[in-house]
Amino acid sequence: MIHYKSPQEIAIMRESCLLVGAAHAAIVPFLKPGISTLQINQLVETFILDNGAKPSFKNYHGFPFATCISMNEAVVHGFPSEYELKDGDIISLDIGVYKNGFHGDSAYTYAIGSVTEDVKKLLRVTKESLYLGIDKARAGNRIGDIANAIQEHTEKKNGFGVVREMVGHGLGRDLHEDPQVPNYGKRGSGLKLKEGMVLAVEPMINLGVKDIVHLNDGWTVLTKDRKTSAHFEHDICITKGEADVLSSFYEIELAEKKNPNLTWSYE
Ligand code: MG
Ligand code: MG
Repeated sequence: MIHYKSPQEIAIMRESCLLVGAAHAAIVPFLKPGISTLQINQLVETFILDNGAKPSFKNYHGFPFATCISMNEAVVHGFPSEYELKDGDIISLDIGVYKNGFHGDSAYTYAIGSVTEDVKKLLRVTKESLYLGIDKARAGNRIGDIANAIQEHTEKKNGFGVVREMVGHGLGRDLHEDPQVPNYGKRGSGLKLKEGMVLAVEPMINLGVKDIVHLNDGWTVLTKDRKTSAHFEHDICITKGEADVLSSFYEIELAEKKNPNLTWSYE
C-alpha cells in the first residue's frame, strides 16, 4: 500500500532527510586513512542522537549498527568494523534517521586518497544516474521511467553492472514502504507516479558484473567478481513538475572539497 504524504508531512520529512545530509557532512572531515569504520559509525550515531533523532537502521530487522558501511567490493548493508580506511579505498556510507515520526535515508560513496580512473568514473556515473533518474520522477511518469534512465546511463552507456536484487523504495513513517524502485527496467512500465509519493532512489552500480553474493553475516552484500561497487541515494517527493529533493548533498560536497584526504568524482 502506498502512503501519500500531505504538504505538512513533507515539511516534517524534509527535516529528517536534511538531517541525514548533515550527518554525512559532519563525518566527512574525519574520513582519512587510519580511522576505523566502527569509529565512523560511532561518530554518526552520536551526531544523530545529539540532534534529537534515532538511527533508523539500528535493530531494523536485527541490523546491529546505526549505519551501513560498505567498503570497496561491498555493495550495501556492510557492518562497521575494526577495518581502518586506507588510500585507494571507497566507502559507501548509508545513513537513516527517524525524527518526528518520519525517516530520512541517504547514501553517499567517498573515495579515500587517490583511486583509479575506473573507480572515479564509477562514482561519477553512479551519481549522475541518480539525477537522471530523479529527472524522470514526476507525476504522470512511471517507475520504469526512473529505472530506465538509471540503467541506460550506467549499463548501456558506460558498461557498468546494475544490481537487480536490491532496489529503492517508498519512505515515510516506515523505512521501507511501497512501491519498490528498481534501477533497471523499461521506459513507460510499472506504477504511475502521483503527487505526494515519497521515494528513496538509490542506484547500486558495480564496476564489473551485476551479480552479487551474500556474506554469511546475514547482511553484507558483495559483488560476485569482487570488483568495486558504488551507491548514492536521495529521498524525493513527486510533484507535477520536477521532483522535490528532500535530502541534500550540498553540505556533503562542500565538506568533501575541504578534505584533502578525499578524491571527489565531480567538477
Ligand atoms: Mg539508504
Ligand atoms: Mg534506502
